[in-house]
Amino acid sequence: MTGAGRHGQPSDPQAARSPLIYVVEDDDAVARLVVGALHEFGFGTQTFRNGAAVLRQLRTERPELCVVDLGLPDIDGIELVRQIAALSSSGVLILTGRGHTVDRVMGLELGADDYMVKPFEPRELVARVRSILRRRATGSGAAPGQKRHASFLGWSLDCAANILR
Ligand code: CA
Repeated sequence: MTGAGRHGQPSDPQAARSPLIYVVEDDDAVARLVVGALHEFGFGTQTFRNGAAVLRQLRTERPELCVVDLGLPDIDGIELVRQIAALSSSGVLILTGRGHTVDRVMGLELGADDYMVKPFEPRELVARVRSILRRRATGSGAAPGQKRHASFLGWSLDCAANILR
């Protein structure tokens, strides 16, 4: 398929257990930046260059979170966020070049967990991704660093000991 490409180190046993993040972004340079930062911090990723490809994949796989660019070639990003929320229980982080308040508000209203406006700092994106996953895992608004244990998809993460069970 031309619309999707898998990245990461499939041969690395650690990577197989990494939280999976979908990156929906048609700008290759931005996608590389996002993917590079996520890999550096232990996430697995799959990149999609259009909305149709990610919606197809979401029918058979549930990533922890989708990073969604609002400016996509085949679908309005806001509409994509709505469809992802309807189709999946994955988290959504909007990544947008648009600074319009209406898009941010619409995105959050439609089920996005957070948004970032380009240009962005990759480390901040990772921090926000982690924050969303933490909130979703605990169901609370715990501040970063407060939680020592997190549970997701049957896994239990001991943050202090860095052990995943
Ligand atoms: Ca774009």
